[in-house]
Amino acid sequence: MGNVLIVNPEVVIVGGGPGGAAAAYWLARSGHSVVLAEKKRFPRDKTCGDGLTPRAIHQLTEMGFDFAVPELHKIVGLRAYAGGVKLEMPWPDHSIYPNWGAVIRRTDLDMQVAALAEKQGALILQGTTAEPVVEGGRLTGVRLKDGDGDERLVHPKVTVIADGSLSRFGRKLGTERNKAYPYGLAVRGYYNSPRSDDQYLESHLDIRDSNGSPLPGYGWIFPLGDGQLNIGAGAVSTFKGWKEFNSNKLMDALIEALPEYWGVTPESVVVAPKGGKLPMTFSVSPKAGPNWVLVGDAAGAVNAFNGEGIDYGYETGRLAAHYISQAIGSDDLGLLQNYPAALEDQYGLYNKVARLFLTAIGRPQVMGALVRTGMRSRPLMEWVLKVMANLMEPEDRGFGEQVYGAIERIVRVTPDVR
Ligand SMILES: Cc1cc2nc3c(=O)[nH]c(=O)nc-3n(C[C@H](O)[C@H](O)[C@H](O)COP(=O)(O)OP(=O)(O)OC[C@H]3O[C@@H](n4cnc5c(N)ncnc54)[C@H](O)[C@@H]3O)c2cc1C
Repeated sequence: MGNVLIVNPEVVIVGGGPGGAAAAYWLARSGHSVVLAEKKRFPRDKTCGDGLTPRAIHQLTEMGFDFAVPELHKIVGLRAYAGGVKLEMPWPDHSIYPNWGAVIRRTDLDMQVAALAEKQGALILQGTTAEPVVEGGRLTGVRLKDGDGDERLVHPKVTVIADGSLSRFGRKLGTERNKAYPYGLAVRGYYNSPRSDDQYLESHLDIRDSNGSPLPGYGWIFPLGDGQLNIGAGAVSTFKGWKEFNSNKLMDALIEALPEYWGVTPESVVVAPKGGKLPMTFSVSPKAGPNWVLVGDAAGAVNAFNGEGIDYGYETGRLAAHYISQAIGSDDLGLLQNYPAALEDQYGLYNKVARLFLTAIGRPQVMGALVRTGMRSRPLMEWVLKVMANLMEPEDRGFGEQVYGAIERIVRVTPDVR
């Protein structure tokens, strides 16, 4: 922290990933004094697929992100492999979201978004760990510690907890993950490839071991456009065999089975696979306390359909900023409780469907039936892509019933799972 003078800011933000940086951007833009503490120094890595869907592009556009940076590789759609079938689908047209996505390393992305927040006036303290001061069960201050042993105690009006999937800060305030909700584990590595300028994200839903037996989980290949690919594999806690799930085994099987055009062998590895956690469907509660809120992974905001969490970090950071600004402006912190209600309103139904879907596909027969039915029908798969990437139009609001109906029908015609 050195000589930086920190008067008590209105808001302290814990963590400089997508959730924290977006909250800092929108709060500073509304004229609030904001300190964001990030325990690492940029450029910092974050284990991730580095994939941005149109929802993330939309939020980045709203924050004035420069898409011309050479590190960003544009993506036009999704190529899905399952049941021996390949299907290439462009991102759908939408009235709000663009019909393109991107892949960009988190080392580049997060540093650039934090810089946008700084430009709006947020004070970004890198290499600074934030710790809660709790007295009488209430958050009364935040202790900011830098690597030189410098320590400051600040007393913000509101604290935004954006410290990621483990959310140690949040746990000290009593937040808890609902263990009945789905939860993901994934690994990713970087690999050299002659085809890194491919403009499709690729997903594999049908990974098998050397004996041809199906392994629980899915895999992805996200091209970076710079000679390398981000390749990863993961599974969700509802999958059969979850307790024995071995992400490295799944990753080895994926690399072994990759289509030849990627030109990837185990020797192509540049950065060895590393694992991370994906808390899903807003599994962490409470989302707000008397003077704090949770955003991004700290709230369990990852989309269970596809493992995306960058966009939900930006969206929840922005939404939280809106309610914090209202609460501070009206001098009524009770208004922070409107934030969890807004999250429920915006994402509640979608997450309910996602949980049902994940429970259903956890049964291999249902997964097999869905893959066989879906991959034979392009219109159905294009609709599935829209649902999975949460790119439905407001008039598609009845989608919940449609998805329930579709899953139910498939369960009914699948032997052994009636
Ligand atoms: C293997 C894997 C692949 C994924 N692939 C994708 C993908 O392709 N696309 C996608 O959209 N999502 C993906 N995700 C999910 C995505 O990475 C997260 O949802 C996203 O990073 C959440 O952002 P966040 O700001 O909430 O948390 P984070 O990005 O985790 O940021 C939290 C920050 O807080 C800092 N911090 C923690 N504690 C403190 C403290 N006490 N004081 C100060 N700073 C602190 C950390 O250093 C970190 O920088 C993937 C996740 C995994 C594990």
